[in-house]
Formats: sequence, structure tokens, C-alpha cells
Amino acid sequence: MKIKSAEFLKSCTSSEQFPEFEYPEFAFFGRSNVGKSSLLNMLLGKKDLVKTGSRPGVTTMINFFIVNDNKSFVDLPGFGYAKLPAPMRKKFMPLIKEYVQNRKNLKLAFMLVDIRRTPGDYEEEIIAFLTDREIPVAITITKSDKLSKNQRAKRIKEIETSLGVSSDSIFLSSATTGEGKRELLSLITEMSQTSSRTD
Ligand code: GDP
Repeated sequence: MKIKSAEFLKSCTSSEQFPEFEYPEFAFFGRSNVGKSSLLNMLLGKKDLVKTGSRPGVTTMINFFIVNDNKSFVDLPGFGYAKLPAPMRKKFMPLIKEYVQNRKNLKLAFMLVDIRRTPGDYEEEIIAFLTDREIPVAITITKSDKLSKNQRAKRIKEIETSLGVSSDSIFLSSATTGEGKRELLSLITEMSQTSSRTD
């Protein structure tokens, strides 16, 4: 898939604000600092369509982007590794779950995991929620350039084991080297053609 255009559409803080259209949709999940903005910019071939770095640790906005006038990419909020205060968590997970439940054209979810980190509750809860609703999940390991080839292979295995997923659903990426770009974009093209949910 070639990116011809990519535009920011809107930020939403509640489901009533979600845009309505029939475009195949792709959602990007991950903790803050995982490299989500950088990966989105890398995929879209834009320098700073999605703001990177220096964001507050917790954001509860869902950002919608329109790609090639026929797809939507959605940046879901993430929080850091520090334990989230209960009131914040109470706001945050329901919004994510509402998003997943509402979007009939959601074709695929990317769950980003930093290659140097071990996934925890955040990743497990969201993956379980998506899987229960039969949304395919691509575990996307970010910042592959941070480790040597040998270290990478070891970390991939560890992430695979900790999430209990098969190697088929794991993708390696780096916004710095562009690794994974072609593979992730072809996955998006392929999944755009799958039929929509009817529930
Ligand atoms: P977000 O909070 O998940 O949107 O993360 P950002 O995209 O803002 O990235 C967080 C930090 O990680 C920034 O300092 C980025 O420069 C850095 N970063 C993101 N992706 C990569 C990558 O692929 N390789 C390396 N080496 N650094 C990265």
C-alpha cells in the first residue's frame, strides 16, 4: 500500500464524538513512550502528523486520522509503566472498551510493545478484550534498533511467552530504521478487504 494522503480528523474524549464512516479502521494501542506516534508517522511517511515525545504521561484522547481517503487509523490513549491511580484507570479503560465495542469497521488492532519491556496488565487486558470480540491483534514490537540481533531474538521469545501468542502475530518494527514498514502496510491492505462485524 502506498500512502497518498494522511490527515488528522479529530480527537475524541467520549464515544458520542466518534466519527461515522464506512472506512476500514486500524487501531493502535500501546503505553505512553512505546513509540506509537513515531511508528504512525513512519507508516504514514509524515514527520510529525502525530505528535511525538513530551506528551503528558496519561492522555485520554482518541485521535482519528484519514488515510488515502479510504481508511482510518486511530491512535488510542496509553499510560506509562507506573501504576495508574484508580480514578484515572476508571476513566481510561472504559473509553478504550467503548471504542472497541462501537467500531464495526475495526479490522485490526496493533498492540505496540517496546522491545526492552515486558508487557503487563495493560496489554493483557486490552488483548483479551479484543480477542473476545474477534478483532485480530498484531503485536508490534517497537524500537528494534535498540538491541543487537541476538538480543532481539531473545526478547521476541520472551514477549511471545509473556503474552501467550504465536510468532505469526508478532511484527518487529523501528521508526528509526524503517524496519517493519512494508510488512505492516501490506498487512493493513490485506485486512482492509475483510468483511465487517455484524454484531
Ligand atoms: P509515544 O508516547 O508512544 O507516542 O512515543 P513516541 O513516538 O513519542 O516516542 C517516545 C520516545 O521513543 C521518543 O524519544 C522517540 O524518539 C523514541 N523512539 C520512538 N520510536 C523509536 C525507534 O524506533 N527507535 C528508537 N531508537 N527510538 C524511538
